[in-house]
Amino acid sequence: MLTKTKIYLSSPHMGGSEQKFVNEAFDTNWIAPLGPNVIGFEQDLERFLGEGAHVAALSSGTASIHLALELCGVSRGDEVLCQSFTFSASANPITYLGAKPIFIDSEKDTWNICPELLELAIKDRIENHKKPKAIIAVHLYGMPYKVKEINALSAKYNIPVIEDSAEALGSTYFGKACGTLSKYGVLSFNGNKIITTSGGGALIAHNENDKDRAVFLATQARDKAAHYQHTNIGYNYRLSNVLAGIGRGQMEVLGKRVEARRFNYEFYKAALSDISSIRFLDEPNGMFSNRWITCILTESFEQREQIRLLLQQDEIESRPLWKPMHMQPVFKDNTSYTNDVSADLFEKGLCLPSGSNLTENQLQRIVDLIRKTSNL
Ligand SMILES: *Cc1c(COP(=O)(O)O)cnc(C)c1O
Repeated sequence: MLTKTKIYLSSPHMGGSEQKFVNEAFDTNWIAPLGPNVIGFEQDLERFLGEGAHVAALSSGTASIHLALELCGVSRGDEVLCQSFTFSASANPITYLGAKPIFIDSEKDTWNICPELLELAIKDRIENHKKPKAIIAVHLYGMPYKVKEINALSAKYNIPVIEDSAEALGSTYFGKACGTLSKYGVLSFNGNKIITTSGGGALIAHNENDKDRAVFLATQARDKAAHYQHTNIGYNYRLSNVLAGIGRGQMEVLGKRVEARRFNYEFYKAALSDISSIRFLDEPNGMFSNRWITCILTESFEQREQIRLLLQQDEIESRPLWKPMHMQPVFKDNTSYTNDVSADLFEKGLCLPSGSNLTENQLQRIVDLIRKTSNL
């Protein structure tokens, strides 16, 4: 029997020169969380992100959010406002510091944090509780959030924004790279992201002092002394020099990876545009998405499940959109400011296979199946 190859949602895609950098690490015995690949990878990212970006390569996106929160001075008993429609890793580090996430729902244009709800929440927290220490906004699925509006609130109430750009390397907002648009940006190089080091992340700062502070905290907070001397609690969060070698190879093909993911989106959209019960998220003016994942919005939970299960039978992986944090059992006691937008997206939305290594034949196979489910 002929078995079809499994199609994954978003699988790693090596460019070719990753192994050369990894071999260099072996040949020179830089098998450590520091070395030429770590420095080289940081420089590649700084060049890509543009002027003024100071990058610290770290062990994960989650670690990067943790350190960004720490750099914002978040500590026990504090509150942090966080986009509800996201992956749990955006919010978990808030709890590592003994602080409490307060969740904010989304708006419909970008599916990201709603500026109106955010302002309502800020006012309510300040008047009736305590002033939040930071805001975590997310460029979900690569689509930029409403940066101008969120930054205006950040300035008005003097609360720093941490920009979770884990899914948005290669996305831009009015020509500026996502990750560089707020006080601290965060990237992830996990295996499913647009480029990968198998596991890794980065913190983006805007001056060398903040970057140095992040690296200091990421390397066990060792004071300058011959012996081991500590006046701060540190972490073991630096990126391995071996993995940074993979990152240097991946940076050579990042542009191509963005093109391929955007091609997937355009392919799906063109092939399904005549089905009125399936909708896509267009880019608002000034926003450029890396289209990390192509998402569709159906008209009902039943329609969404029909498509998902049919694809599954054919060894094709798809997945409902992120379940909002305010609906997660682990955060059931947390305060949230909601408007039903993210709950609706969770009910009716589906992530389609979006890897940069998908072939046109595979895309066509997926589209043909989806068309079968629609009663045109
Ligand atoms: C992947 C991801 C993270 C976490 O990154 P890791 O490198 O997996 O720790 C954080 N936020 C979002 C939105 C993500 O998609």
